[in-house]
Amino acid sequence: MIYLIGIDIGGTNIKYGYFSLNGELLSSYKIPTPAENVLKNIVKFFNENFSLQDCQGIAIGVPGIIVNNQLIRRPNNINCPLNLLEELQSLIPSSIPLYFINDANLAAYGEFFHNERRQSSAVMITLGTGVGGGIIINKQLIEGRAGKAGEIGHIVAPTNHKTVCGCGEFNHLESYIGSKQLILRYEKLTKQTHQSIASIVEALKNKDSSAELVFNYLVKKLIYLIKTLDTILNPEIFIIGGGVAEAFSEQLLPALQKFLDPSIDVCLAKLKNQAALYGAYYYLKYQLNHGV
Ligand SMILES: [Zn+2]
Repeated sequence: MIYLIGIDIGGTNIKYGYFSLNGELLSSYKIPTPAENVLKNIVKFFNENFSLQDCQGIAIGVPGIIVNNQLIRRPNNINCPLNLLEELQSLIPSSIPLYFINDANLAAYGEFFHNERRQSSAVMITLGTGVGGGIIINKQLIEGRAGKAGEIGHIVAPTNHKTVCGCGEFNHLESYIGSKQLILRYEKLTKQTHQSIASIVEALKNKDSSAELVFNYLVKKLIYLIKTLDTILNPEIFIIGGGVAEAFSEQLLPALQKFLDPSIDVCLAKLKNQAALYGAYYYLKYQLNHGV
């Protein structure tokens, strides 16, 4: 049977998905991301679980900066060689096309094709430890000149305070609404430590005023982000995903819709932690049918 393989290399786990040509996820696997030699582990896993003979393509999501299939900046905390593509290509049959794509972009691609309300364009906003995203125009991922398109967490937020972003610059949205920052804000307000996004959601359900302040702060910053992106790209749909969006899944959409123009279509992501695997499938389908 002919099939396609998607791989999602994350800081904690590497996920593998094995798809039929018509998009059925035949099986998926998850192994802990090895501290040493990601590459050898991928190939070892292939040899133990798949016969590569019938594989028509492999797409791999990596949380680094990638341009034209080349890893330009290696992901934090993952031992990934910069020449990942060449190394992997030397280990698997040369007849199998291999693609490397930024993992957030791949997740956006998966969510885009899985969403029945889209036709050709979408912006995905991923709310988690960081704030990321992906832009799709005319069904194509927009990666940009240096692979940074869609890094929407690094848009400067309007503020009177000064924060330093993980990237070293000032006042980026991620430094306000990344999950750690939201938790810190809640801990300051409640003067309690060891809080989590889940505990904020719980408190919000009980109409706790500190949780409401934190949630409203998140919504305000998101509205700024969505309006900014809508001015520039005006996509058919905004898809919001990531762990923080999942945690606030009951409250987020109604809160956003209250303040956004009704013509702006916003929905929640559906594929959750399998988005990048499905993205790999759709990416391969698109590449194999249209050429690179
Ligand atoms: Zn930044």
